[in-house]
Amino acid sequence: MINVTKTFLPDQEQYIKYVQGIWDRGYLTNNGPLLQELESQLKDYLKVDYLYFCTNGTIVLQIAIKALGITGEVITTPFSYCATSNAILWENCTPIFVDIDPLTFNINPDLIGASITPATTAILATHVYGNPCDVEKIEAIAKKHNLKVIYDAAHAFGVIYKGRSLLSYGDVSTCSFHATKVFHTIEGGALISNHPELDKEFHLLRAFGHQGDEHYHYAGINGKNSEFHAAMGLCNLPHVKDIIKAREEIFGWYDELLNWDILSAPARADDLEYNYAYYPVVFPNEKVMKDVMEALRLEDIIPRRYFFPSLNTLSFMPKQISCPVSEDIAMRVLSLPLFVGLPKTDVERISRIINDHLPV
Ligand SMILES: *Cc1c(COP(=O)(O)O)cnc(C)c1O
Repeated sequence: MINVTKTFLPDQEQYIKYVQGIWDRGYLTNNGPLLQELESQLKDYLKVDYLYFCTNGTIVLQIAIKALGITGEVITTPFSYCATSNAILWENCTPIFVDIDPLTFNINPDLIGASITPATTAILATHVYGNPCDVEKIEAIAKKHNLKVIYDAAHAFGVIYKGRSLLSYGDVSTCSFHATKVFHTIEGGALISNHPELDKEFHLLRAFGHQGDEHYHYAGINGKNSEFHAAMGLCNLPHVKDIIKAREEIFGWYDELLNWDILSAPARADDLEYNYAYYPVVFPNEKVMKDVMEALRLEDIIPRRYFFPSLNTLSFMPKQISCPVSEDIAMRVLSLPLFVGLPKTDVERISRIINDHLPV
């Protein structure tokens, strides 16, 4: 079977060496030495000043919302993974969906203004597939209306935009290091911030909100990650450059082989060092997309409807808001298999099946 993704696994011996060290120390979690080493290496790699390794890419969104004191209405994108809007809901805020740009599939900054009300306190936008949002426009809107900005940068590991890590934009950016992402720690995530004054708060919020047995500051959560997860990160980080290079090559094959007279793909920003996180293709309509999906399935090739459904259409959202562009794209987009080790012959076969099922 060829799945949409396949987790990169480092050398097992190297991982076992780290595990041996964990056994020797008998120290398994709670801000251990491997976690601190990983945080330090990630800060170097990403060239960011403040980074906190946590349990996953969802809890970091919730911690970010808490740390920034966000309440009420949060402007967000309907074209993302459900973790983005779920985090808003778990923090008792109301997601206000603003439709996406039809070219980039990121939140359309020109539509944000009309959705701002006196209850709006923040913008939480996703850099979809690792393509940067219009960070300049979003920053200007946030300044004008005194809003906080959080970027769900779960897809953006290693992306450099205008000479800066894409993770360094906004008040806080969050990343996911889940096994399906470009860089992973099995499960994991990180908070990245530009706020030294939030340093203590992030440490506290991810560890129950107290220091020692005396100082209870506020209701934190358990977002601490373990030495075993940090060890996986330490094994994987040295491979990230090669992982991204391998993905770029596969990207190029699809670019060359697919029929772009009929298919389309999201536009990428200029001045970008991209991480090739996903390979989304947009079909002319949902029926063609489904026909292609079925033809691929018969060959044991499993792409993913990523993202589907458009989050604004979920029944449990407190406010039903129409987002026609996102709803339309979500109905007809597929992410194609893309992972280190995917052979060119398979990319040729996948591309052939897709092209053969397109209308003439
Ligand atoms: C993967 C992902 C998340 C959630 O990350 P986890 O580590 O799985 O909790 C959040 N947002 C987006 C856009 C994602 O792709």
